[in-house]
Amino acid sequence: MHGKIFSLSLICSLFFNLKPAKADEGMWRPADLKKQEAAMQKAGLKIPITDLYHDGKAALNDAVVIFGGGCTGEVVSSQGLIFTNHHCGYGSVQSVSTNKNNYLIDGFWAKNNAEEIPVPGLTVTFIRKIENVTGTILKYVDTTMSEEDRNKSINEQIQFTEKALKNVYGYEAKVKPFYNGNEYWVTLTQVFEDVRLVGFPPNGIGKFGGDTDNWMWPRQTGDFGIFRVYAGANNKPAKYNINNKPYKAEKFFAINTSGVKEGDYSMVYGFPYVTREYLSASQLSQTIDISNPIRIEARRLKLGVWDEAMRKDADIFLKYASKQSSVSNGYKKWQGELRGLAINEVPDKKRAYEQRLIAKTSQDTSANSPRMILSQINAAVENNNKYLRALESTGETVLGIEIVRQAESLQKVLDVHRKGIKGQALTDTLAQLKKGLAGFYKNYEPEVDKALFETMMPFYYMQPGLAVPDRIKVLYAENGNDFGKWANNVFGQSALVFSQLAAPYYDEPKAQDTIAIKNDPAFKIYDAVVSWQRTAVSPSMQAFNKRMDMLSRIYMKQQLDYMSAERNFYPDANQTLRLTFGPVKGIKPQGHSYYSYISTLEDVVAKHNPDVEEFYVPARLRDLHARKDYGRWAVNGTVPVAFIAANHTSGGNSGSPVLNAKGELIGINFDRIWDGTMSDLYYDPNLCRNIAVDIRYVMFIIEKYGNASWLLKEMKLVK
Ligand code: ASP
Repeated sequence: MHGKIFSLSLICSLFFNLKPAKADEGMWRPADLKKQEAAMQKAGLKIPITDLYHDGKAALNDAVVIFGGGCTGEVVSSQGLIFTNHHCGYGSVQSVSTNKNNYLIDGFWAKNNAEEIPVPGLTVTFIRKIENVTGTILKYVDTTMSEEDRNKSINEQIQFTEKALKNVYGYEAKVKPFYNGNEYWVTLTQVFEDVRLVGFPPNGIGKFGGDTDNWMWPRQTGDFGIFRVYAGANNKPAKYNINNKPYKAEKFFAINTSGVKEGDYSMVYGFPYVTREYLSASQLSQTIDISNPIRIEARRLKLGVWDEAMRKDADIFLKYASKQSSVSNGYKKWQGELRGLAINEVPDKKRAYEQRLIAKTSQDTSANSPRMILSQINAAVENNNKYLRALESTGETVLGIEIVRQAESLQKVLDVHRKGIKGQALTDTLAQLKKGLAGFYKNYEPEVDKALFETMMPFYYMQPGLAVPDRIKVLYAENGNDFGKWANNVFGQSALVFSQLAAPYYDEPKAQDTIAIKNDPAFKIYDAVVSWQRTAVSPSMQAFNKRMDMLSRIYMKQQLDYMSAERNFYPDANQTLRLTFGPVKGIKPQGHSYYSYISTLEDVVAKHNPDVEEFYVPARLRDLHARKDYGRWAVNGTVPVAFIAANHTSGGNSGSPVLNAKGELIGINFDRIWDGTMSDLYYDPNLCRNIAVDIRYVMFIIEKYGNASWLLKEMKLVK
């Protein structure tokens, strides 16, 4: 008896020791936290898991929201006050800014509820319930089914489940696959549409360091923004109405003002968007050799043109600020990703992992053995590479020219005519399309786009392989094989250049419009590229994706079945709620000295450069610094600004609450460090760090810079 117990525990310890020390990796679903409880407590967690997530009653999970379409936010008062990132609110704040009231440049601080600014189109989404529905979704699936029948059955079950749950609970229900379709979970949500801007630091604080410092550490960005959710009758979602009331939140985060130190336990709670940790080596090579290099080069060209134009003209700056941020964000991230993957030799590690899986299952001689599945994946990828290259080199280049992309709207006008839509339906459809165009023209400058055309088209034209269709070659020849001439033609003749030129297609439709549209030089490019994509690329891409759906599902299952002794599985991110934990910790990136975990206001002021917009520190902040007017936020004669920790985060975790061991707010997550951005594909505890703005800096800026201490009164500050 005794011997048995001994050998069992020996096996257990062997089992755990086998797992390589990939500490801190993992984005856990709330329902999986129970299984992590021991590890979390060992790492320092001081509250029960049920405080973090409870299925039946209010818990901190209720205070984590989806901000807008892709970020995270957290509730910080009982009156619906929300913190998120400056970069998450950037587009919204741009949309309510004008040249006179430019909140990006000057910041904004409401002095009371009445001054809060409604942001049309901005939403905040609360999660009301999360449930495992795998059994229901896969109920009618069996192993003899074709993939088509399988998908059909699953889709029917998804629709049925979403509808049924909506009926029962009265909330929107969305079923998503996990582990590449081996599990299905549903999330019930409540979306609030009356969201108002409360406080926003100027770019000189909220975007300090700009693109130069993006994805970098050390960092001094006060990347936060403050909004408020408003509700209608009974605290329910309602369209904007002046009489709506601040949303009454049962759960919100207390703000811990004691600060962080190296080694402290921390957690990030939020909605990471997409990760792909379980890809095969050959799939990873598509990112390394095809997608990232093409995107990086195309964006380098685009940013070269946009940045120059934005520097020269304040009006263009405002128009392009938000677009530029998102283009440059990816541009820099993908470079960091490639760097991290190379430093870590991830392709080799993936191949070795595959070999271990194959060795473990060598007795399996079936057609679906890991060896066979992996070789099918490799063959499919090999076959797909040229199509992927074509797709990437078109999407980021020629279709990245705004006027060409915008020709999609003319295609829709053509469709309307082709379908013979008449009368009121015609007027309504065209009016809807025109509305979309209005948003485009608000932030469009033809001169900038023309310069982009002249830069981008030669690069696009040079793409090897499939990428350039014959019709494009004909158009090029028709324009004298001269990109400058071609640009003159497009920007001199296209109706898309100014909204007034395109307006008649939408306001006074005529049969002849179809001829004029087909002759529009921007439309001609769009049509040549898109029709070619439709026939020469998309069918192969779709077939590939379908095949990979199946192969990835099987490969994932095999990893779960056979590799769990060497890794701790968690499902890839898919914009569902996740919690990750790790210590506050400095970093020693390759080729650099060790960097401390924290930055301070001294670092901000040291970087101040009146000639470089990205590093311009607002005078008022310099003044507070000069007078050391830090109030209660002084720490060792300065103010802490940002810190890093080893939490496994991703895009979508922007704006997420960073919590201490008691579940109190210590920071707002906003970024990762450059070499660690590969954590979407491979997590390395030595290289990966998330970056957070220190909550004490947030409080200092609100109180001392924004003079908005009325906001602090509704928060719960704890030590
Ligand atoms: N800054 C990032 C983003 O733009 C957050 C991250 O990926 O860590 O989404």
